[in-house]
Amino acid sequence: MTTPAYDPQNIFAKILRGEMPCYKVFEDDVALAFMDIMPRAEGHVLVIPKTPARGLLDMPPDALGPYMLRVQKVAAAARKAFDADGLTIQQFNETAGGQVVFHLHFHVLPRKEGVALKPPGIMGDKAALEANAARVRAAL
Ligand code: AMP
Repeated sequence: MTTPAYDPQNIFAKILRGEMPCYKVFEDDVALAFMDIMPRAEGHVLVIPKTPARGLLDMPPDALGPYMLRVQKVAAAARKAFDADGLTIQQFNETAGGQVVFHLHFHVLPRKEGVALKPPGIMGDKAALEANAARVRAAL
């Protein structure tokens, strides 16, 4: 299949344009990172590129390297902020691949030994999301 066209009305594009709020962790000219509002682990962060791309395959190759450096930077900060034993990094492509929001993003999930991921679809507590964003920011 070919990748469908990028839809600039997707929710992450709205966050990038400042039309929707987020619990911001990091921003520069390449990427924005913010807390996942339905966290599957404490400190679950999403890192999105400013380049409009639906998924991994339509991301311009020359923009991918700089973006991945930001994913790594935020992942290192999340690990430090939550004193994690490990990290789960996830990225989904198209509905069949588990993707729900069609703007490229990597999930960064700090993991503790023996602690399972929470089920999907449960809204996070606002105060906890804000506090966790502050923790990651402080570790950057
Ligand atoms: P997926 O496309 O499968 O990687 O899933 C999209 C992710 O975005 C899910 O983990 C949602 O909880 C998360 N999400 C959806 N809307 C928002 C939002 N407004 N702010 C932060 N995270 C969101």
